Amino acid sequence: KARADFVVVANRLPVDLERFEDGTERWKHSPGGLVTALEPFLRAREGAWVGWPGVADVDVDPFSDGDLHLHPVHLSSTDIRQYYEGFANATLWPLYHDVVAPPVFDRSWWENYRRVNQRFAEAAAEVSAEGATVWVQDYQLQLVPAMLRELRPDLRIGFFLHIPFPPVELFMQLPWRTEIVRGLLGADLVGFHRPGGAQNFLWLARRLAGFEPSRAQVGVRSRPGVVRVGDRTVRVGAFPISIASAELDQLARTKEVQQRAKAIRSELGNPRRIMLGVDRLDYTKGIDVRLNAIHELLADGQITVEDVAMIQVATPSRERVEHYKQMREEIEREVGRINGEFGRVGHPAVHYLHTSVDRKDLAAFYCAADVMVVTPVRDGMNLVAKEYVACRNDLGGSLVLSEFAGAAAELTSAFLVNPHNLDGVKDSLLAALDLDEAEGRRRMRALRRQVLTHDVDRWARSFLEALGTSLVA
Ligand code: UDP
Repeated sequence: KARADFVVVANRLPVDLERFEDGTERWKHSPGGLVTALEPFLRAREGAWVGWPGVADVDVDPFSDGDLHLHPVHLSSTDIRQYYEGFANATLWPLYHDVVAPPVFDRSWWENYRRVNQRFAEAAAEVSAEGATVWVQDYQLQLVPAMLRELRPDLRIGFFLHIPFPPVELFMQLPWRTEIVRGLLGADLVGFHRPGGAQNFLWLARRLAGFEPSRAQVGVRSRPGVVRVGDRTVRVGAFPISIASAELDQLARTKEVQQRAKAIRSELGNPRRIMLGVDRLDYTKGIDVRLNAIHELLADGQITVEDVAMIQVATPSRERVEHYKQMREEIEREVGRINGEFGRVGHPAVHYLHTSVDRKDLAAFYCAADVMVVTPVRDGMNLVAKEYVACRNDLGGSLVLSEFAGAAAELTSAFLVNPHNLDGVKDSLLAALDLDEAEGRRRMRALRRQVLTHDVDRWARSFLEALGTSLVA
């Protein structure tokens, strides 16, 4: 059996297995940013991807898609309930997002998380060639680095966390905090979006795992912090993720996207301004924040439904997790209330789309929107903010962005807002709606400079270089 020199381990494979009622199956590509970023490296090195194929209780044999080897990991319905919906999404997700919702600490979920992580580690050990590089992704798999090192000490192991790493006081609530820190310290390089996350982790490594971080090199992007673990060295640093900027810029320039953007404007009755929100329906995204702000702006008569149209794309997400059900009901009740109170025939205040939109349509929405509203109370990065910028080669449009999104560290020419300060959000929305054109262009030019020079390819390269992986196939 072929073994790979470069292996990615993630909760999901880059393809989804679709099963139809008549029993037939087919693979569907799910081209997320991570896949786009890593595919060139994987294909050049005949790499392997270890992950769950998206359907519970089925055994799928390893298979190849061109030069890319795919290794499905089996998850039962119990694993989905306990490891994925439970420990990953109802314990770690809220805990790591500043306990916006109360995390649930359930011992059987934890036990299952451990077992499933062990299964991923075993799959990675099986597909990795001698001395291979293995890059483990995200909060679902934090125990994999140490488990994999135990099985295969010859491997070079990297880990990247795609969500925020919480302040120390919050992380300390976790009953299994020491195991998680030890799990991550199995890697040679542990990466976060923000220097603050790296710093928090280094502190915990010393406090919980009894390892001494060497001096205060923490958080400097080019010189990651260092932890000695026995005779090994673990490096810790910040690597802010990004998007395939040039590709999206090109897509936005196509006639098809431009025409769709125009069509969206005219279908809305060519309002003076269009505001746009695009989010997974998640309680961290602050969809309620912007709805409250719009509600008050309409009530105060500072905007009218004829003048300003709001589109909110809310992509269905984690619908079986209790907290998500509740919050969907709250959001939709508020949308209904605003439309009932302020809408006119042919002019609802909020155009609410509970659906997933494909890339072309999304690019068209971005191009049509005068004000992009991104107000999470906490977000690891927020790629939507960067995508909006990449689509605006016309230098039009402005971005209202929460300080609590990782993207705020880079997109400093946006209107930065504290989502907890409703008056501040309202003021920024008004300022963005009435922005002077020259000032808007100046801001957008600065934003684009950042997004176009710091793309996802650069992110992957800088991580792999820090891991010491030769990028030449
Ligand atoms: N997205 C999409 N269709 C939608 C809504 C979102 O393809 O209807 C994509 C969006 O383009 C972005 C990603 O989903 O690349 C969301 O990433 P982000 O970092 O903003 O948030 P996350 O969902 O990862 O928390």
